Amino acid sequence: MIILSKNIGGNYKVVLLPRTKPSTLTQLECLLPRYHATRTLREKLNDLLVREASGYEGEQSLDYYYGLLDLKEFPILHGLRLNNGDQFFQMDTLILFPNFFLIIEVKNYSGLIRYDVDSGLLTREKKDGVIERFDDPVAQARVQRHQLLKYLLSIHYPQVPIHTLTVFSNPKGILQIEGKTNDLILSQRLLKRIPELRKYYKKNYLSISELESLGKTLAQHHKPYNRKIIERFNIDRVMIRNGVWCTKCKKRMMVREARSWHCKPCNHSDPNAHIQALIEYREIFGDTITNKEATEFLGSPSRHVTKRLLSHLKSYGTTKGTVYSLKEL
Ligand SMILES: [Zn+2]
Repeated sequence: MIILSKNIGGNYKVVLLPRTKPSTLTQLECLLPRYHATRTLREKLNDLLVREASGYEGEQSLDYYYGLLDLKEFPILHGLRLNNGDQFFQMDTLILFPNFFLIIEVKNYSGLIRYDVDSGLLTREKKDGVIERFDDPVAQARVQRHQLLKYLLSIHYPQVPIHTLTVFSNPKGILQIEGKTNDLILSQRLLKRIPELRKYYKKNYLSISELESLGKTLAQHHKPYNRKIIERFNIDRVMIRNGVWCTKCKKRMMVREARSWHCKPCNHSDPNAHIQALIEYREIFGDTITNKEATEFLGSPSRHVTKRLLSHLKSYGTTKGTVYSLKEL
């Protein structure tokens, strides 16, 4: 998909792979309000939700700087995940310039962040004084660079230099670096570092149209990560609450009566409230649903009513074996 978006600087940038909300984040948002979890697992899933949301927010915050940069026609791919044989690798952002490819890795850590160039030790001191240790971002960048080189070689592209930047995007983060590096930076430094790099690499390897064609190929090979949380954490189906959340108060389940959904406490009616519930079902469980599953999940009064509620969906199979697709919702 190609999206031409007019950005702040008034230039057009070619986003060959737009940023999408990570599947893990969407799944957790749908699952957690319905899940009767043990305290430990709830905390674990909540932590994961906070991390995913923060990472996504950090990546989005950089759009402001990409807008200010003179990126014009250079292809940009967000969240590209590729398969190198049996390994997958994912890049927060990849920008294709004629003279080099730029991988941008985003960290949205808040607090005091310290990095020691010699040892590769990255720590964060939080407000409460607790110190956490993270993986060495330079080593991570090296792995990504290696993976992308290997991938490009496998699709017969010339050896274009690949540069990596680690960007700390959180406005509440303070970055303290021990030693010398230009490639671990705060967001605003992108405005200086990207133009520097564009001058630093002298030779052009690919034309703009070749870059676009490469970008399209990469976007086509994108393999999004969408493993289901319920599988990852072995979550029992019976622990997930059924029902159609009230589309007004979002706190109670609605009841289907007289061709509409009703929430008694707030006296709200919405004939199409089941659509949102089916979207949540898709995020939590998967792309298809049977009449039996939908009757149970929606709390529909009968299979006959469910059949009507699902009638606008594409279906496969016949009578008892009918499976409805939730993909287009
Ligand atoms: Zn309500």
